[in-house]
Amino acid sequence: MKKLISAHSHLLTKPVELDFFADKFSQIWLLELPNIIEIPGYTRPSTEDEILAVAKQFPGLYLPFKWVDFRKGPDQIDRAVEKGFIGFKGICPQKSYDDESYFPIYERIAKYHCPMVFHTGYVSTPAYSKRCPDFGYQAGNMRPASLYTLAHLFPEITFVAAHFGVPWERELFDLEIRLLPNFYIDLSGGHSEDILNIVAEHAHHEALLPGGEKGLFADKFLLGLDAYLGHPQLHQDVYAYCNEFVAELEKKAAGTVWEKSVPGILAGNAERIMKENHLL
Ligand SMILES: [Zn+2]
Repeated sequence: MKKLISAHSHLLTKPVELDFFADKFSQIWLLELPNIIEIPGYTRPSTEDEILAVAKQFPGLYLPFKWVDFRKGPDQIDRAVEKGFIGFKGICPQKSYDDESYFPIYERIAKYHCPMVFHTGYVSTPAYSKRCPDFGYQAGNMRPASLYTLAHLFPEITFVAAHFGVPWERELFDLEIRLLPNFYIDLSGGHSEDILNIVAEHAHHEALLPGGEKGLFADKFLLGLDAYLGHPQLHQDVYAYCNEFVAELEKKAAGTVWEKSVPGILAGNAERIMKENHLL
């Protein structure tokens, strides 16, 4: 069986049958979201305590990432690390990710050398009456270019841009994000065909890895299944989708220079992030 890591997954409240993934994945990064969001047909995202309990129940498999509330100060970072979170998640900030008022938060994350996964690009937006009060929905606050700035300012933080920044994927190329050793891109998102095409077009370019080592852009990509876990029906669907995505990725890579980078995209690159930051 292939070694797989999902660098982008979420957890439902009252999760069940999470052992389903134990023999299929070597790591699943669980990114917290505000518990008040409603998920049609499937209750809500898990609470902070539920994520921590799952991480404890399956040590090394489910890894807890704390949602950053950008309206709050850097103490939330200390609190999260003390509780056992090993990474952070950014989504729907009220201002651009690189707004200077957020720098104290990043300074604190840098102190702990934690990775942070950022939603980049469009976000699915509900009707006005259903919006999450904790979220700013302006996609313009989540442009990949804002992470380019931050990755320069905070080299101690590993930045992961989720969803390839669609529709601003060009920013990732024009700014040569591949040359920032602390920058990765997760391939999750609802537009997997577009993402696979972008990957196939750019994966062979040279990139810089941590420590200044040279690699390929493909060595910066992470498999991610932006799905909720914790419900048996969802598990079957998620795993079927994952296998399809992996098969398509392998097809695109076959016979290219980045074919040897595929195991890294599926697991090795995410594993490297955890090792570099001494988190596992
Ligand atoms: Zn997500």
